[in-house]
Amino acid sequence: MNLKKYISTPILIGPVALGGAYPIRIQSMTNTDTLDTRASVAQCIRIIEAGADFVRLTAQGVREVENLAKIKKELQHSGFDTPLIADIHFNPAAAEIAARIVEKVRINPGNYADKRASFIKTELSDKEYNEELARIHERLLPLINICRENKTVIRIGINHGSLSDRIMTRYGNTPEGMVQSAMEFVQIFRSENFNDLVLSMKSSDTVIVLESNRLLVKKMLEEGVAYPIHLGVTEAGEGEDGRVRSAAGIGALLSEGIGDSVRVSLTEDPEREIPVAKEIVRFLGGSKDRIIRAVDSQKFNTRDLSYKPEVIIYKNGKYLTENDKPFKGEMLIFSYKTPPFLSEKSQKKTFLNPVFEEDDPEKLTIDAAALLGRYFILKQADGICITNSGKVQGEKLKELSFSILQATEARITRNRYISCPTCGRTKFNLQDAVKKVKAATGHLTGLKIAIMGCIVNGPGEMAGADYGYIGAGEGKVHIYRGMVPVKKNVPEENAVEELLRIIKEDQVENLHQPVI
Ligand code: SF4
Repeated sequence: MNLKKYISTPILIGPVALGGAYPIRIQSMTNTDTLDTRASVAQCIRIIEAGADFVRLTAQGVREVENLAKIKKELQHSGFDTPLIADIHFNPAAAEIAARIVEKVRINPGNYADKRASFIKTELSDKEYNEELARIHERLLPLINICRENKTVIRIGINHGSLSDRIMTRYGNTPEGMVQSAMEFVQIFRSENFNDLVLSMKSSDTVIVLESNRLLVKKMLEEGVAYPIHLGVTEAGEGEDGRVRSAAGIGALLSEGIGDSVRVSLTEDPEREIPVAKEIVRFLGGSKDRIIRAVDSQKFNTRDLSYKPEVIIYKNGKYLTENDKPFKGEMLIFSYKTPPFLSEKSQKKTFLNPVFEEDDPEKLTIDAAALLGRYFILKQADGICITNSGKVQGEKLKELSFSILQATEARITRNRYISCPTCGRTKFNLQDAVKKVKAATGHLTGLKIAIMGCIVNGPGEMAGADYGYIGAGEGKVHIYRGMVPVKKNVPEENAVEELLRIIKEDQVENLHQPVI
């Protein structure tokens, strides 16, 4: 199946067309308290002025949803009619009110009408499974009717890590489970002849993002539907890590022609997400057709090393170039005695040597990750050599290469920090917390540490992390080891120290484990 043939059917979100041959749309999400009208309006304006086509706001309860009407009115009063999106979890009543106020409502099938996943494995018979679907169908009916009346669009937004017990029981926390969760909701909406839908499959793992979106497209093509797709890599973090992870995941999909809107999630002020999203889209070409052509004709050399194995030298624990000398520019040889991701039959080694002309380090970071990410996510490349004729040179190119390999899980040389972009639920300064946790643990390697803004969605969405630092209310933090909270309500000022103490204890214990 040629996924490049996937062209979605356009829909209107307020006055803005999304999908088909329309430009790829950019959005961000506020992190103010939605009850704070002034702060929310001011932040919406900063996001819009940075170039967003849509702005999303969290609406955790009926009060917050009702305040969206005030926020919308004040924005209109200031001359901004950018469509607003309400982000709803666990609260069908809030979704129903929001659908009368804003242009689009995002719901999460993992928690819309299901209880939150308890991670306790239970078996459901087919009968029980279908009864649950019938119950969800009934619960969605009022929302569908309100959306139809008000021309409100629904995004069925799946997050890896916040799937329902029903899905987890049958499919696990997998791309298949994510797609199944979305398609069950799609079928309910379709059976009611409601098609103003956008779908999304998000994860903090770029491999899962690519796999789940590809599978979603495949399923939609099989079912003869083509809803617009919204792209994002969740909890991507901040700084270079966040930009590389986002650009690699989103760029991989856009370069396959998948994706109609984009949100880059950074643990930074939300308006800072917009230039990153715009640069990913600009670099890859702007509209879907152009993106496909841009990638097909991209000028980079793919060197096939299968006939020159002598180029790869393994010395003192490192793979180096011939005679230990780097190639012109900076060179990173990436190889294994037994390549872990090449088939038995193929011992071909490929490294990528893109050539840039870029003076701006941020643009180079985004462009390189958007271009190269997919080859490492798809395990099609073994090495990377970024050559730049612009001002960015030396150590920065090497660091960038390592960042791309790390973000695509191709080679782990650092810790991975998962941190959410924060939203109205965050009750402490997450940006500071991320900086402190990074500074305290930067000497370690290979750990996955999540720093999340709230205990409502944080624990689910950090799935796979070794440790979690999760906001539990004003000035309080829960520390997690894997999925288990091991210290609750630690005062924020002691929380980094406490996290480090737990990590150290675990490392000492691991050192004393007998080798079997
Ligand atoms: S984890 Fe919580 S605070 Fe962070 S973005 Fe998600 S809902 Fe908001």
